[in-house]
Amino acid sequence: MRLGILVALLSWSSFAHAEHAPPQSNVPLSNRIVRYNIDATYDPKTHTLEATEILTYKNQTAQPLSVFPFHLYLNGFQPNSSFTREAHRDYRNEEWKSSYLGSIEIKKLEVVGQGDLTSRLQFVAPDDHNPDDRTVAQVQLPRAIAAGESVEFRIQFHDKFPEVVARTGYKGTFMMGAQWFPKVGVWWHGSWNCHQFHETTEFFADFGVFDVKLTLPQDQIVGATGVKTLSVNNPNGTTTLAFHAEDVHDFAWTADPRYRVFDDTFNGSSGPVHIRTLMQPENAAHGPRYNAIAKRTMELFDRWYGPYPYHELTIVDPATLRAGGMEYPTLITADTAWFLPDSLLLTETVVVHEFGHQYWYAMVATNEFEEAWLDEGINTYTEIKTLDTLYGKDHSLINGKRITWGDAQEQHYSYEKSPRFDPITRYAYQFASERSYGDITYGKTACALLTLESLIGEQTMQRALRTWFQRYRFTHPSGAEFLKTIEEVSGRDLGWYFNQAIYGTEVLDYEVSSAASWPANWYDDRKPSSNYHSEVVIHRKGEFILPVEVEIKFDDGSHLREYWDGKDRWTRFSYDKKARLLSAEVDPDRKVWLDVDLFNNSRLAGFSSGDARRKLANYWMTFWQLIAQAMGWMA
Ligand SMILES: [Zn+2]
Repeated sequence: MRLGILVALLSWSSFAHAEHAPPQSNVPLSNRIVRYNIDATYDPKTHTLEATEILTYKNQTAQPLSVFPFHLYLNGFQPNSSFTREAHRDYRNEEWKSSYLGSIEIKKLEVVGQGDLTSRLQFVAPDDHNPDDRTVAQVQLPRAIAAGESVEFRIQFHDKFPEVVARTGYKGTFMMGAQWFPKVGVWWHGSWNCHQFHETTEFFADFGVFDVKLTLPQDQIVGATGVKTLSVNNPNGTTTLAFHAEDVHDFAWTADPRYRVFDDTFNGSSGPVHIRTLMQPENAAHGPRYNAIAKRTMELFDRWYGPYPYHELTIVDPATLRAGGMEYPTLITADTAWFLPDSLLLTETVVVHEFGHQYWYAMVATNEFEEAWLDEGINTYTEIKTLDTLYGKDHSLINGKRITWGDAQEQHYSYEKSPRFDPITRYAYQFASERSYGDITYGKTACALLTLESLIGEQTMQRALRTWFQRYRFTHPSGAEFLKTIEEVSGRDLGWYFNQAIYGTEVLDYEVSSAASWPANWYDDRKPSSNYHSEVVIHRKGEFILPVEVEIKFDDGSHLREYWDGKDRWTRFSYDKKARLLSAEVDPDRKVWLDVDLFNNSRLAGFSSGDARRKLANYWMTFWQLIAQAMGWMA
C-alpha cells in the first residue's frame, strides 16, 4: 500500500475486448499449494455477493493436518472487531457510518469425504483474544489430511460489502472486491500463520491457481487479477466473466460502469504484458500518464531485478482514495486527481510504488503481518531508486521550476518523526500507533537501506536485491534471509549495522557541536598573525554508531575530508594553517539518511569567540518541512 503523501493537499474524493494470452506457462512458477474455484454473483444495488468456493489444499508439509484456519477479512468492518477498535484508537474523531459495516458469512462448509462441517467452525482470535473479532475461523476435521494428500473444501458464503473504509467495498457506482472470500492460512515455520485483520496489517497467503467466475449486470466494466478467459451475456441482463490466474496468492476485482479503459502493452524480457488501465471519467486525461509511468517502471524492474512473468497488469483509478494505493496480484489501485499538475509526481509515485509490490509482495511474498518492512520498506526503497532514476534525486516527488522535493527527503521526513518507538522488525499490528507503523515500516526502512547502500555501494545493493528476488520469488522468505543475502552478495559482515538499524531503536544523530578559528598569536595584540588555529568538534548525540565523513573548509578555498569511526561520543579535529576555518559538515555527500536531524550536520565557523551559530545548509528545508507537515502518508 502507499501511505498517502500529499493527501491533505488533494481533496479528491470499453469494454470487454478479446481475451488475451492463454495461461502463462505449463511449468508452475510456484508450489501451488492452493487451488480456488469461485463462482460469485454480485448485486451492485445491495452491495452483496453470493458465492460458492471450492478450495483444494495440498498438504505439502511433512505432517498430517487436521485443523484449518480461514481469513474472513470483511468481518473486520464491524464496530467491535480488532480492526475497527485499533482504527478508532488512532482516529477517534473519524465519523462512523452504518454504511461502513461489512461482513462475510460462511453459510456452509463441507469437506469432501468428511461431510458438512459448518457447525464445527469456530472463531478464534490468536493475536489479541478479542472475543468479538470474527476475522479468523477454524475448523477441526474428523480425519487428518496426511502429508502429500489434498483436501477439498466446498464453501458457500455471503458478502456484505461496506462503503469503502479501507481498500474494499463500494463508493457510488465504483466497487472494489478485495479480501472478499474465505482464504486459508499459511503453514509457515511449523505452524499455521493466520492472523486476525488489524488496522495496520496487510496479508499473507499461499500461491496457487485461481479460477473465478463473476456474474454481475451487463453495464459493469470489470477488472480482475489474472487473465479473462470468458465473457457470456445471460438472458437476465447479467454477464458472467471468468478469470484465470496462476502462481498468485490472492484475487481481487473491481467493477464500475463509468470506467474509461486505456489499453497498452509493455514488452518485457518474458514477453508482452497487456496493461489495462481503468480510469474514473473525471480523471481520464491521466490515463496515458498512468500507462507511461507503468511501462517505464516495468522496464527498470525487468532490468534491475528480473522479469515480470504475468501477461496482465490492471491499473485501477478508484472513486475514493480509501481504495487507492493498494496492491493485489497483477492488479493495483492508484490515486490521482484531474487537477494535479505534471510537476507534482504523485500520480507517478503511486504507480511506481504499487507496481513495485508486484515484485516484493506478490512474488517474493513475505509475511506482511509479521515482517511488513520486507514488503513496504524494500518497496519504498525501490520506489526511491526508480523515481530518482527517472526524475533525478532531488526532483522525484515535486519537479517544478522553482520547487523541488525528492522521494528520499520525503521518506526521511516521515522517519525523523518517530525514530524511537519501534524497531523495523516489530509485528505490524504491535506498533505503538499507526503513525509509528508507517514512519518506521516505510520511512525508516527506506532510510536504513539507503544508508546501507552508502556502505556497500549502489551496484552491490542492486545485485543483492536481484539475488533476493530471483532466489526467493514464489516462496515466503524471512527477514533473516534477506539480511543474509545482503551479507553474502556484499561479502561483508554487517551484523553491527543490522543490529542497530533493523533490530534496534538506537537513534543516529551526529552534529558539529563547535567549529572555530583564532589567531595563533591571540595573546599579542600589537601584530596580527596570518597563522590560525582551528578546531572542530563532532558529537555523536544518539546511541547509533556509524563511521562518518566530515568535510572541513578553509577561507583560502582549501578543504579536506576527515573520517571518524564514531565509537566515542565525540571527537576533535585541530588545524594550524595560514587560513581560517570556514565550515565543517558531517556527511557532506548526504549518504547517511538514518541521521534523524540533518540541520545540525553543518556549521559555519565562528571567529575568535565562535558564537556565530549559523547553519551552512538546509535552511530551505524548514520551509519544505512545513509543507510536508500537511502531507499524510500512504499505505
Ligand atoms: Zn505499499
